Amino acid sequence: AGSRSSASNLPKHSYISIFNFFDKLEMGLIQFDTTINEYLFMVQATGIHIKDNVKNIGVQVLEQVVRGGYNINGTDYAYDFNLSESDVPPTTYLPDSFTYLSSQICPERLPSMKGRLEVNMSEMALEDVERFLLNAEPTMTLGGYWKPRDCVPRWKVAILVPFRNRHEHLPILLRHLIPALQRQRLQFAFYVVEQVGSEPFNRAMLFNVGFREAMRDLDWDCMVFHDVDHMLENDRNYYGCGDMPRHFAVKLNKYSYMLPYNEFFGGVSGLTVEQFTKINGFPNAFWGWGGEDDDLWNRVQYANYTVSRPQGELGRYMSIPHHHRGEVQFLGRYTLLRRSKERQSLDGLNNLQYSPLLSRRPLYTNISVSLSRKLAPIADYN
Ligand code: BGC
Repeated sequence: AGSRSSASNLPKHSYISIFNFFDKLEMGLIQFDTTINEYLFMVQATGIHIKDNVKNIGVQVLEQVVRGGYNINGTDYAYDFNLSESDVPPTTYLPDSFTYLSSQICPERLPSMKGRLEVNMSEMALEDVERFLLNAEPTMTLGGYWKPRDCVPRWKVAILVPFRNRHEHLPILLRHLIPALQRQRLQFAFYVVEQVGSEPFNRAMLFNVGFREAMRDLDWDCMVFHDVDHMLENDRNYYGCGDMPRHFAVKLNKYSYMLPYNEFFGGVSGLTVEQFTKINGFPNAFWGWGGEDDDLWNRVQYANYTVSRPQGELGRYMSIPHHHRGEVQFLGRYTLLRRSKERQSLDGLNNLQYSPLLSRRPLYTNISVSLSRKLAPIADYN
C-alpha cells in the first residue's frame, strides 16, 4: 500500500471504501502495519476534509465495528457499494422545446429538471414561505396538495416528514422541495407527523402513523419517508417510486458524500403503497435515534426486494447542521436488529394504535400524535 503514489492507481471503487477498509482491518484480513499508510493514502485520495468530518466518520467506523456483531441470514454483508444504477449510461433529458399533451403521462426526465440545485439554508418564517410558494403556484390547495395540469402525473406521492421541535427547519425544506417536485411533475402533498409527549423520538412509528393517515386522506400510490433536515442537491433525483424500494439520500455531505455502508437506508427513502404494506411498514419498537432504517432495510430484503438508488451525483444531499436537542440514541437497536426477521410480522402496521389530531396548513397537513409503547403491543417471539 505504501508504494502507491497516485489516486489513479486505486482499484475501481476502492477510494470510497474506507468503511470497507475498517471492516477488513477488524476482521484481520489486512495487517496493521500496512493499514496506516493505506488509510492515509485513501484519505488523501478521497480529499476528505478530515478535520470537519472526523466526528461523522468516527461514528461510521464505530458503526461498522458494531455492525460486525450481527448479520442478516447468518452471512456477512457484502460491502461492494454497487449502486444499482451505477452502470446505467448517462440519461438523456428531454429538450427545452419538448411539448406534451395534458392527456399524456408526465415524462420522468423533463426539461424543467435542471440538475444541480442551490441549497439555501437561511431561516425564514413559515408564513413567508407559504406566501412565496402560493404566489408562484396558486393552484396549490390547503394542505399543500398539488398536481400538474399539463400532463397526467406518473405518481401520486405522499411526502411524510417525522417531526419534533424543528420549527425552523420545516420552512427551509418546503421552500426547497416543493418547487423541485413541481418541476418533476408529480402529484404530491406533505404530511408532517409531529410527536408530542415525553417519550423518546420514534421516527419509524411516526412514519407508520403518517402512512395510515395519508391513505385515509387520498389514494396515494407512492410514499416518500423524508427527514426534515435533508435537502436534495439535484432535482433530477426523481421522487417517484418504482418496482423496487428506493433509497434517495445516497450521498450526504455529513458523510463526505459517501455511502456510509451498503445497507444504509436513512434520510430519504420511498416505497410504493404495495411494497410498504407487504413489509408491514416500519417497526414501532425503536425509541430514540438509530436503527429503524436498518430494520426497514432488513424487511425489504426479507420480502425479496433489491433497493434501487439514483446514480452518481443525483443522490447528493445537504443536511442542516444542528444538534440532536436532547434526542437519545437507541442503544437497544442491535438487539432488535438481530431479530428483524421474527419481528417483521409482529411489529409494524399491524399492531399500531394511535389517536391523531389533524390540522391543515397552506403547505401541509399536520398530524399530531402522542406515542407510547403500549400503542404497539408485540406478541412474544421467543
Ligand atoms: C444507525 C442508523 C443511521 C446510521 C447512519 C446507524 O448507526 O443505526 O439509523 O442511519 O447509523 O447515521
